[in-house]
Amino acid sequence: MIARVFLDNDMWLIVSGLFGGLKVTLKPRNITIKASRFERSHLYNILDELKNRGHRIKQDSAELTSILVMFSEALLGRGDARWQTFFHVMSCESVVDSVINENIQQQKINIQTGLHLANLDAEFKEKVFVDNYGCSKCRKLPDAGAGYNDLSFRKVKTLYDTSHESSWLSECKYCKQHFLERFRDRIDWTGQGKDPMWMYWTPLTPEEFELMNKGEELTGDMLSFIGKRTYLECDSEDKYSWKSPKE
Ligand SMILES: [Zn+2]
Repeated sequence: MIARVFLDNDMWLIVSGLFGGLKVTLKPRNITIKASRFERSHLYNILDELKNRGHRIKQDSAELTSILVMFSEALLGRGDARWQTFFHVMSCESVVDSVINENIQQQKINIQTGLHLANLDAEFKEKVFVDNYGCSKCRKLPDAGAGYNDLSFRKVKTLYDTSHESSWLSECKYCKQHFLERFRDRIDWTGQGKDPMWMYWTPLTPEEFELMNKGEELTGDMLSFIGKRTYLECDSEDKYSWKSPKE
């Protein structure tokens, strides 16, 4: 089996890999999410249903494209209401109904009864975060092995600091965008080599920065955005990557 492109338009790229994995990229934000086995098989069941109704699965068919776009939007929601609706509320039959029915818009809205689309949109935007923070320096991907001084970050305040886990408020040296900078390591019990370490930089809104800068203890609520927003990670092998939001 070779890699196969399911969809490639201005917004989305959906590719299935050599070993059956399925990756969806939201092009304007360069966010890629790998579908879980469950998410993937749900999509394939929907495509089977489309086939059973006598539609040929050919690339560029309007029905296939609609299904793939719905799937991508739901996938990016990572467990939110939109995701729940697509993967748990709508049956495969109702997804196919919604794309082959003449009255598509009406159907889609009916299926999502009780879910307010405006709220969904707001939630969706918050989860993927608006990547319009910072400047080209702090949004750039550092080279593997880059040292702290090669980065554009500067610590401005220590929030807490222990030998295995620390947090700081940082800013970009160039544009002053604030970040939550975190460090953690895992103790290498074998005693061989150094403990593997990770660093993370998550961009902060001005409100979040202000709240954390007051010096109050960090609560789960204050940190609830972590992992729901694109952040920079330096892994235990000093490789840097921008990570996608996840639930
Ligand atoms: Zn910057």
